[in-house]
Amino acid sequence: METDPIRVCELLVGLPDVDVLGVDDEPGGPLRVHVECRDQRPGCAQCTTVAWVKDRPRVELVDLPVFGRPARLMWHKHRWWCPNPGCDTGSWTGENPRIAAARLKVTDRAGRWVTYQVGRLGRTVSEVARDLGCDWHTVNDTVLAYGEALVDDDPDRIGDVAALGLDETLFCRQGRWRRQQWATSIVDVSADGGGYLLDVVAGRDATGASAWLAARPAPWRKAIRFGVLDLSGPYRKTFDDTLDHVVQVADPFHLIRLANQKLDECRRRVQNETIGHRGRRDDPLYRARRLLTKAHERLDDRGETRLAGLLRAGDPHGEVRTAWHAKEVVRSIYHITDCDLAAEFVTQLGADLQDDDCPPEVHSLGRTLVRWRDQIVAWHRARVSNGPTEAINNLIKRIKRIGFGFRRFSNYRIRVLLYAGRPNWDLLATITPR
Ligand SMILES: [Zn+2]
Repeated sequence: METDPIRVCELLVGLPDVDVLGVDDEPGGPLRVHVECRDQRPGCAQCTTVAWVKDRPRVELVDLPVFGRPARLMWHKHRWWCPNPGCDTGSWTGENPRIAAARLKVTDRAGRWVTYQVGRLGRTVSEVARDLGCDWHTVNDTVLAYGEALVDDDPDRIGDVAALGLDETLFCRQGRWRRQQWATSIVDVSADGGGYLLDVVAGRDATGASAWLAARPAPWRKAIRFGVLDLSGPYRKTFDDTLDHVVQVADPFHLIRLANQKLDECRRRVQNETIGHRGRRDDPLYRARRLLTKAHERLDDRGETRLAGLLRAGDPHGEVRTAWHAKEVVRSIYHITDCDLAAEFVTQLGADLQDDDCPPEVHSLGRTLVRWRDQIVAWHRARVSNGPTEAINNLIKRIKRIGFGFRRFSNYRIRVLLYAGRPNWDLLATITPR
């Protein structure tokens, strides 16, 4: 058993090559442990003359709590200077990354702990700050410094990807008019081993995603076989420009959602035309809105009878009924197992939906089917979707909720990548914070 009090203290502080100078114990405040480095006087980097001490600046670092109390490491640093009159080095401060990274306000061990708590366990920054008895910014800056290294300095984080999905996410609303700020999620959606976030880039136009893809090594890009996208022009352009060899696949979820949107538009228009105002609680079409967008097979007999009755009452020309049928037929595209049959089916459906009898909303759906036919049909061969992207978007939503909205994109990026980007947490012990 160790009994020398200074030695005991050093054991408890647990830092290499450090002398403990003393401990401040202010009631109600954090425990302050004063330390200095035990190292020899260094030589000047330029002329190797042994340096002199110029100054002893003190740095206060947030450390891990001890014995249930917040703690601070008071680091009495050495400011050295070169006494050689012929040398212009001047002075410099002694650093030790094993105690703390130069620009951060936390000890190295606290930095790694904080990054794990926030980045992996998804705890809030303020919650962790409360544990350490420090402010929000100290924790947030730390998570970004260690997190960026974990995410961006590991060449193995992004492995080979067979199917790549692009999808938009709203990451915050900014300014007086709460302007929407969009980001693009780049996701590995491969059937096996996929389902993680490769990266996020600012904006939802083609530029960000295209630049990101262009910066990848050529063999990595070549290995991608499928590109999954919503029915939007920008992502189509990204794939056309930077991955022209991949088979583009329209995401089934987005197509079915579009069919539902068109149905909804149609319902609202008919409602307005027949009763002269927007839907109210007692209007038949308004009451039918949930039954309409529900998958047909999920309606029980009662629901079906109800829906038929409400349509009879509120849809005099059968337009909503047609839009409802269109939605159901679009859903049935994904029940077809044969690829060639699916291609024929979508071609025919695109034409049928633009028939003179169909309401304008259904026409519009038909035009989309024609414009995106190849991508829609490609699903039957590829069998990949942005399903994993949706799962990741749910994770992102969780992070956004606990992040209380991110104002800075870089902040948002690191946080969501730590959570959904599958970083190698084993590297947390060895990475160098940025
Ligand atoms: Zn010198």
